[in-house]
Amino acid sequence: MGDIVVGCHLSTSKGYEAMGKCALEIGANTFAFFTRNPRGGKGKVPDSADVQALLDLMERHQFGKLVAHAPYTMNLCSAKPDVVEYTRQAFASDIERMEELPGNYLNFHPGNHLKQGADEGIRLIVEGLNQVLVPGQKTMVLLETMAGKGTEVGRTFEEIERILEGVEHDELMGVCLDTCHVNDAGYPIAEDLDGVLDEFDHVIGLERLKALHLNDSKNPLASHKDRHERLGQGTLGLAVFQKIVTNPRTSGLPMILETPNELSGYRREISALRALARGASLEEAEALLKAADDKAQKKA
Ligand code: FE
Ligand code: FE
Ligand code: ZN
Repeated sequence: MGDIVVGCHLSTSKGYEAMGKCALEIGANTFAFFTRNPRGGKGKVPDSADVQALLDLMERHQFGKLVAHAPYTMNLCSAKPDVVEYTRQAFASDIERMEELPGNYLNFHPGNHLKQGADEGIRLIVEGLNQVLVPGQKTMVLLETMAGKGTEVGRTFEEIERILEGVEHDELMGVCLDTCHVNDAGYPIAEDLDGVLDEFDHVIGLERLKALHLNDSKNPLASHKDRHERLGQGTLGLAVFQKIVTNPRTSGLPMILETPNELSGYRREISALRALARGASLEEAEALLKAADDKAQKKA
């Protein structure tokens, strides 16, 4: 069993190489970052020396693929045409920026249809993707599976598949499965990981599954809430994460933690996941999660 590819969300405030160094400090070999301020606005133009330093670090330390995240303010299927237009422009420029880190992933939330209905939402998302994807680009764009809060599109595997079907250059597209979201959407991942993966395979095709967001959930199955919890402290429990890091259908994928944690908490979750991947018991992993540097934990 190989070493897993696992990391967490990191701040871009000190630049690219700093994120790589931070990842190393917490035992990560991938990470996620927002391509621009999550509240919107312009992203910084990356400094090419800084980008190169990160690429060198990633190669030296055998990082897996990065999973960048588009900001939550982007909405390809807004009812407001100016938001749709802004999102398309921002998306295109984020893809361009990701091309400086070739071969990595850019994940996004499909969108909120805002009472236009899922059909119209899907139509707008497809139209937007067909406008912004550049044939031959080195960045794969990932649709994230959503919890189904409010008018979110992507609450079922069928909705994700309909988007993929509409995209002309679907070779540039994949899916990121968020464990909290699928639980909240109604897929019983904690009880039946293999059954949910079978369903994913049947509807979308497992070859499309490119990355995972590992989060426990504060809410029960089918709650449509989307509140993340630290691993083992929510309704999913630690056992599903043990299954994920040992199941050959998921263990090779880049895994990103989006749990409410400080860096010290992420370090503990990463070490627990690595231990589980090497065959540790749930009890051993729980001990690692409660390890020495425990201090008052803030909610993210
Ligand atoms: Fe997300
Ligand atoms: Fe997520
Ligand atoms: Zn979420």
